[in-house]
Amino acid sequence: MPEYQVFARKYRPQRFDEVIGQEAIVTTLRNAIKHKRLAHAYLFCGARGTGKTTLARLFAKALNCQHPESNGEPCNSCSSCKEITSGHSLDVLEIDGASHRGIDEVRQINETVGYATSTGGYKIYIIDEVHMLTKEAFNALLKTLEEPPPHVKFFFATTEPHKVLPTILSRCQRFNLGRISAEKIVEKLASISKEMGIEIEEEALSMIATLADGGLRDAESLLDQIHSFHAGKISVEDVSTILGMVSRDYFFELDRAGKEGNLAMSFEVAHRVFTQGKDLVHFVESLTEHFRNLLMVKLSGKNAPFLNLTPANRDKYEASAKLYTQEQCLTLLDYLAESQQQIRFAAHGRIALEAILLHVLRSHQRLPVEYLVRRLTELEQTIGGGTPTQPPQPAKQQAAPAPQPPLPPIPQQQVSQLPQKESPSISIDPTPTSRDLGKREKKEPPPPQPPKAEVRAIAPEKQRQYDTLLQFAAVELEGTIQRHRF
Ligand SMILES: [Zn+2]
Repeated sequence: MPEYQVFARKYRPQRFDEVIGQEAIVTTLRNAIKHKRLAHAYLFCGARGTGKTTLARLFAKALNCQHPESNGEPCNSCSSCKEITSGHSLDVLEIDGASHRGIDEVRQINETVGYATSTGGYKIYIIDEVHMLTKEAFNALLKTLEEPPPHVKFFFATTEPHKVLPTILSRCQRFNLGRISAEKIVEKLASISKEMGIEIEEEALSMIATLADGGLRDAESLLDQIHSFHAGKISVEDVSTILGMVSRDYFFELDRAGKEGNLAMSFEVAHRVFTQGKDLVHFVESLTEHFRNLLMVKLSGKNAPFLNLTPANRDKYEASAKLYTQEQCLTLLDYLAESQQQIRFAAHGRIALEAILLHVLRSHQRLPVEYLVRRLTELEQTIGGGTPTQPPQPAKQQAAPAPQPPLPPIPQQQVSQLPQKESPSISIDPTPTSRDLGKREKKEPPPPQPPKAEVRAIAPEKQRQYDTLLQFAAVELEGTIQRHRF
């Protein structure tokens, strides 16, 4: 029985045209081979699983192939190709910079570079994670790198090019490998599944691609893991259970619950997430992504670019996007970005999650600020005797005639005097003294006079009581207006 090979190894590209997502680099390498324009050293930079060592190995294979194809592809059938594929080549040496990072290892390289190759091809050193080399090792390597023998090539790979010494960087031709798009990862996973006879839902593949975050090797390993864990057809639920991910359906449920005002759903979802042992931080991250998707669909429609969604999910997002306003999505995105930090350090994760979900669901009941301001203005107008349908105006311009004595605002310094009954009111006294009236005329037009006969009918003792009451009422009203002004 043949030895079991993990997917990532079994499906590692053996030809340039099998490499996914790095087209520009592949073209450059092919041209270099075709025109025999080769540098001494190459540096492949990029996130994990994007194909750095795969490209380095392919390049080495193509350079040393005894019967290369005209387009620069290795034949994969000569002895050199076979040796490199199996990792037994004496001319192509792979060194793990993470475990061989000292000066002694580099000295060994320096001692062997002078020897000719067994096949007459290039002697190629592939150093993975080259940024892990010590400074001394880098310096020792530098001497060889400055003037290597013509048959020697160095291929470096790193996830952290900023940690590689500038003197090394300047001697390398550098390639930056981008993250591989989710669509391409899904495509590759689908072809592996087909070849392996694995039945899996497309949405499940999309979930794997999302989790792999642009790394094809990670995606392949995840598919491998799920395949060995699960017999029969693999569904979205299976993937979410095995990988501890959350199905998007949770979020669509929350969208509907929020619109219907079903706040209990926040506790139900939190309960499900918690009891299924899902990672709470990851859940909030996924919820944030959900609102990012909603906003994108709101702005550009369901076929918006940069959405890693299956056609079925695009339809679901289109339906859900109608339940929110653009403002709501933006506010919730801000809120959730902050919540990711909060839940990370929350002492009681479940309660924190419930609070977050409640906040999201209640966003449907929160009135927009513009609406509140309009309502307040209308209320002010109603109190001031204006008609509520008028457009919003600053409150001070509404000196409309009122049936009852109007209540001009009281300056703050007068508030402290209010309890003292002896000091008569200046601004709200319904029968103002001439001194007060004189004062007022300088500042503002006098308020409409109350019907005199009515006022005269009140006894002086009562009058004072009314004054005081009116003052208190005015202060109370002013306070209420102040509190609700934005
Ligand atoms: Zn070959």
